[in-house]
Amino acid sequence: MSSEKLSVKQARLPECIGKTIKIEGWVRTRRDSKAGFSFLEINDGSCLSNLQIIADANLANYESQIKTLNTGASVAVEGLMKESGGKGQATELVAKSVVVYGEADPETYPLQKKRHSFEKLREWAHLRSRTNTFGAVARVRNCICNSIHQFFQEQEFLYVHTPIITASDCEGAGAMFQVTTLDLDKIAEKEIKYLDFKQDFFQRRAYLTVSGQLEGETYACALGKIYTFGPTFRAEKSNTTRHLAEFWMIEPEMAFYELEDNMDLAEAFIKRIAKDAITLCPEDMQLFNEHVEPGLIEALQKVVDSQFVRLPYTEAVEILTGCGQKFEYEVKWGSDLQSEHERYLTEQHFKSPVILYNYPRKIKPFYMYCNDDEKTVRGMDVLVPRVGEIIGGSQREHRLEVLEARMAEQGIPAEDYWWYSDLRRFGTVPHAGFGLGLERAVQFITGMTNIRDVIPFPRFPGNVEF
Ligand code: ATP
Ligand code: MN
Repeated sequence: MSSEKLSVKQARLPECIGKTIKIEGWVRTRRDSKAGFSFLEINDGSCLSNLQIIADANLANYESQIKTLNTGASVAVEGLMKESGGKGQATELVAKSVVVYGEADPETYPLQKKRHSFEKLREWAHLRSRTNTFGAVARVRNCICNSIHQFFQEQEFLYVHTPIITASDCEGAGAMFQVTTLDLDKIAEKEIKYLDFKQDFFQRRAYLTVSGQLEGETYACALGKIYTFGPTFRAEKSNTTRHLAEFWMIEPEMAFYELEDNMDLAEAFIKRIAKDAITLCPEDMQLFNEHVEPGLIEALQKVVDSQFVRLPYTEAVEILTGCGQKFEYEVKWGSDLQSEHERYLTEQHFKSPVILYNYPRKIKPFYMYCNDDEKTVRGMDVLVPRVGEIIGGSQREHRLEVLEARMAEQGIPAEDYWWYSDLRRFGTVPHAGFGLGLERAVQFITGMTNIRDVIPFPRFPGNVEF
């Protein structure tokens, strides 16, 4: 007998009835019936639901193996697909054989039927993907990544790989991890006070990238529309539910785009991700809707159907100072908005995603386009309920003299950015771009409150296990 190998997702479809098939996966539960058979619920990660197996007492290994199968054991089952009389499933598999690959001792296997907190599950990051919630997060994250590529590819953006090790620090983006092959133990032993980076691997200081933007601009200024999608590193000491030391960022960069075009793209982008998750992952999204964030799907559908608010920074400051709300940090024109202010705007005042733009030039990096008012730059942040800032971007300064003046103003050595300035020296064009943090997007779509639960192996201060 050669049987077709199916996933649980495929085997749950009614068209499988009558076929002889094989599935492989992990036991979620076993129930023994007095009528001389056992029910096994098998999950293989292909979908949230399990496949029900009927294992009859006549099977050769019924007493010796099947009747003692526990949660977490791995099996291969071959048999005949039948219509199921049970609730919540169209099909069930009547086993002709059950091969046990590996048992899971209930005394020591951590994932028993009892519910564990997300905090506890973080200690078992190598096993938590076997739970319903983390399986659903993995599938929705996958769906979001696929949507991102499709969204850009459909519009003829080129996927560009920018370097992970870099010497430029994309001014102001965050604290960097230094990359070195210098022997730190030896240096400590010799009590060397001043390091000679000429002796280091790259013969100068090098870091893990905080953003691919600057390199991305070089490709946009040759090929038109590009995007990057890769790992990004920030040595943030802050222990928050929205910051990781290692995260994934998507950074589109477009020649001949101004701030408005940039906002249009960012808005369409977020709507596309939300719409795809709702339509392509209905079962997983229902889990988040019921168990993680009540009202999630309806709220996301509203985001898809409505227009984002677009608000100049100056007007945001007016709203925040006039609203009568007590904030921990005071709001004044010229200072950066804190997450509490951003969340007030998007969650309470507008109850909608908000694109803030035209920020004070003093608090924004040198590469943002300077407005004629000489006070503001064409930067923009997209804020969404529950998460706050999800996107940061800007129209880039493409006028060489203005760029150089801004570098001087901010004390940035222009010679380090000679290649970046060259883009303005030779055939300069207006251009713009933004960065979306993938994990913040996954938080927004799934309703998961802690960013450490939407990436398989989170890196944060004091944690690099697994
Ligand atoms: P925040 O103010 O929230 O710390 P930022 O302004 O430093 O973010 P940007 O430099 O604008 O962030 O980066 C672009 C996007 O990357 C952000 O909008 C966010 O979605 C994401 N991001 C930034 N820092 C982190 C981080 N430490 N962990 C996860 N995502 C991040
Ligand atoms: Mn930002």
